[in-house]
Amino acid sequence: MIDITAIKALLAEPRRIVITTHHKPDGDAMGSSLGLYNYLIQKGHFVKVVSPTDYPYFLQWLPNNPEVIIFTEKQEESKKLVADAELIFCLDFNALSRINELGDEVRKSSAIKIMIDHHLEPEGFDDYRYWNIGACATAQLVYDFIVNELDEKQYINKDVATCLYTGIMTDSGSFRFPTVTSGLHRIVADLIDAGAENWRIHQQVYDNATEGRLKFLGYCLSNKLEVFREYNTALISVSKSDIAKFDIQTGETEGIVNYALSINGIKLAAFIVERSDRVKLSLRSTGDFPANEICKKYFDGGGHRNAAGGHSEESLEQVVQKFKSILPEYKKLLLL
Ligand code: 5GP
Ligand code: MN
Repeated sequence: MIDITAIKALLAEPRRIVITTHHKPDGDAMGSSLGLYNYLIQKGHFVKVVSPTDYPYFLQWLPNNPEVIIFTEKQEESKKLVADAELIFCLDFNALSRINELGDEVRKSSAIKIMIDHHLEPEGFDDYRYWNIGACATAQLVYDFIVNELDEKQYINKDVATCLYTGIMTDSGSFRFPTVTSGLHRIVADLIDAGAENWRIHQQVYDNATEGRLKFLGYCLSNKLEVFREYNTALISVSKSDIAKFDIQTGETEGIVNYALSINGIKLAAFIVERSDRVKLSLRSTGDFPANEICKKYFDGGGHRNAAGGHSEESLEQVVQKFKSILPEYKKLLLL
């Protein structure tokens, strides 16, 4: 491990830097990555954001989004960037398996690896760690890193602020989760002062749905929602053919799980979707219920207490069955 003085010394000269983030990046992953990118380019560094996969269209307007390289589409270029990097920032994840094959490249690279993250149980591949599980978003930590660790608040310009606001907004459920504090609102106020147009960002992310997505949501709610009152649990599960029928793209299933959680009395909500390569599971919970524990124990995943995810190589039916069979184990907690 190295310390912040060493990081400052490294960043004092132009460096070759790669920023990477997790598989299927969400608003916090892209917001924190491009937020940091827009800071580092002002300092004269040569910076590239390398995403392991594609990401939703409603994030593709972020400042300097065209500079992002997608590993699955440009493997050789991505590998070379990682191999040649002097510094690699790993944002919004803490285990290299979260970035798929790109993880091997990062592991092999001789670059200094800086992890900025808010998930439990870091694997330990990093040389410097800015890590706080109490943080609402990695974007919040990037703000703290630039302002408090590097003492460079003057570089929080409109582009940086717009990206970081997006990350905080999406990971906080639009400022509603328990991780939202008065301190976080002060950061958000700074971001708005620095030029983040809060209303426009909400519009670009949340009021940008395709007709297909809305019809798909209606279909999920009318035909696919199951409520298990004896466990205060609600489930929506959809198959590959449902996804194809509505022409659902990356990211368009995001947020559907929250509708299941919005039913009165529901403590645990699940959205299970059959993707082309595997079955993906998203869990959301309220209060103390540990959604991440279920994902870790049964679905090769993890996450936060109230928002977690995992996946499985089994069939959709098997995963749904497995999920239902787990509920009795958690009955006591679910009925609290
Ligand atoms: P989502 O349901 O939005 O895909 O994911 C919610 C949260 O769960 C993410 O912020 C991430 O922390 C975590 N998560 C989702 N999928 C996985 C996974 O496959 N592995 C791990 N370790 N965490 C995941
Ligand atoms: Mn995050």
